[in-house]
Formats: sequence, C-alpha cells, structure tokens
Amino acid sequence: MKQKKHGSFHQKHSLGQNFIEDEALLEELADLSLVTKEDCVLEIGPGFGALTKPLSDRAKRVISLEIDKTLIPILNVTLEHHKNAQVICADVMKTNLSELVKEHFGENCSVRVAANLPYYITTDVINKLLRELPEAKSIAIMIQKEVGDKLLAGPGDDGYGPLAIFCQYFCEVRRAMDVPAACFNPPPKVDSSFMVLIRRDAPAFDAGNEAVFQRLIKGAFAMRRKTLVNNLITVFSMTRDDAASLLEKMGLKSSVRAEALTIEQLCELSRELTSFFKKD
Ligand code: SAM
Repeated sequence: MKQKKHGSFHQKHSLGQNFIEDEALLEELADLSLVTKEDCVLEIGPGFGALTKPLSDRAKRVISLEIDKTLIPILNVTLEHHKNAQVICADVMKTNLSELVKEHFGENCSVRVAANLPYYITTDVINKLLRELPEAKSIAIMIQKEVGDKLLAGPGDDGYGPLAIFCQYFCEVRRAMDVPAACFNPPPKVDSSFMVLIRRDAPAFDAGNEAVFQRLIKGAFAMRRKTLVNNLITVFSMTRDDAASLLEKMGLKSSVRAEALTIEQLCELSRELTSFFKKD
C-alpha cells in the first residue's frame, strides 16, 4: 500500500480493498464502461477514487458509493477538481439504488453503473442491480475471472445457473477485459475480468409472468442433481403427472435436468407454467 500517497490509511482486506493504480489501465476501464457526457454514473466502491477520475472526465455526473468512512476525506481531496463527482458514504447492499439515482440524477437521466467491489458480494450486487435499477443502460463490473465464466455460461457448462440466466435474460453480457491479479495493490489471490452487461430493451425471451420465471429459475437449480420434474413438484407443489406433461408438451423427456435447457426453453417453460396456474 502506498502509505505516502494516502497518509495513514490502513487497507482493509475485509472490504476487498485491492486498488488499481495503473493510470493507463484505469483510462481503459473507463472507456470500456461505455460512459459518455450524456450519462450519469453510479460508481460502487471508489476506493481512493482512481477510477472515479476518468469516469468523471467522461460523464455528465458521477455519484460514488463508498462504505469505508475513512476513505471519504481522501476521496474529497482526490476529487476536489472533479466538480461533477460526489461521494456518498453508504453500503451498496443497504441502499435503495432506485431512490438514490432518482434523487441525485433526476427522472430522465441516462444511467450507467461502474463497480469494483469485494468479490464475496459480486452475486448479490449484480442481482440487486438487475432488479432494483432496470433503468441502468449498462453495468461495468470487476469480478473474479471464474465468476466471469459463470456469467457467460450456457447449458451443460459447470457454472450455468441462476446468475448466468438472469444476466443473459436481462442483458447482453461481454467480457470486456481480463485483469491479472498483479494489476491490483495488494494483488488478490485470483485473476479478474472486467465484465460489461448491456441492458436489453426487453428481456431476451418472453417468460410470461416474471414472478413465475424467478421462482422457476431459483427452484429448478436449487437441487442441481434432481430432475426438473422433481424440482417442479417441490417448487410449484404440482403433481408428477402435471409436471411431466408440461415438459412433454415442450418435447422434453421427464428425466431432463434444468441445466440442459437453454434460456429460451426455460422461458417457454415459464410461459407454460404461467398458463397452467391461470387455469386454476
Ligand atoms: N475502485 C477502486 C479501484 O479500482 O482501485 C477500489 C476498488 S476496491 C476493490 C473495493 C472498494 O469497495 C473499496 O474501497 C471498499 O471499501 C468498497 N466497498 C466494499 N464493500 C462495499 C459496500 N458494501 N458498499 C460500498 N462500497 C464497498
């Protein structure tokens, strides 16, 4: 840690404080975040503000959420000349992001997200952003490389599951750049990928009732080794015959597992379930 640059700041491993200092890399990450002068950026986890600066150079406005209150005075000095950037001390997981964005950016601003956070909250943060901030045109996020593979996974891949399905259902998912551990100070134990999720105008496929779809995806992958029929029985309290006949209607065997179905097929199943429950 560069103590002389940031006074007596003590880096907190528990908050995932691994910082990027290479200015060329930070400029590149800001470019990959797709931010333009039209955009208001919600940055999550600014650290010392190293990425905040190039983001603010490109954006109309930036709001940065930082949980560590000891970083706030440092950020205020770092961002002194970046008048369009504002720092808020808050935990992203305890913040109503939709309200925050409306309060600070107004109703009609084009919103983009950039995040570099501890890896143990990656899944929760992505899920929160997908649900709470549908107006965000894109989410650029640094994550563990293996989790990047999961976001891109398809049927039959090890990582294929709810995270991949929800990300790909709502967004076009790109691995914008691999970032080796050595690019961070201190270097974490794992390599990273900078992923960019571009929100689709509408979900990739029609899933019928969205609540049914959410329940299906979470339930169908909760017990991965169980057949889809068995998971449907548990999640939707259906009879075996009803569950099997829904799959048969789609041309699927009753022995199929959820991990073999494409997102399009899962959406079709969600539509079938939506109609099935409407009949009751
Ligand atoms: N963006 C900086 C960079 O690239 O150098 C810092 C990234 S560092 C990996 C993660 C940052 O997220 C730290 O500053 C940490 O304090 C902050 N952080 C951790 N958990 C957070 C949370 N729940 N809400 C907001 N910020 C958080």
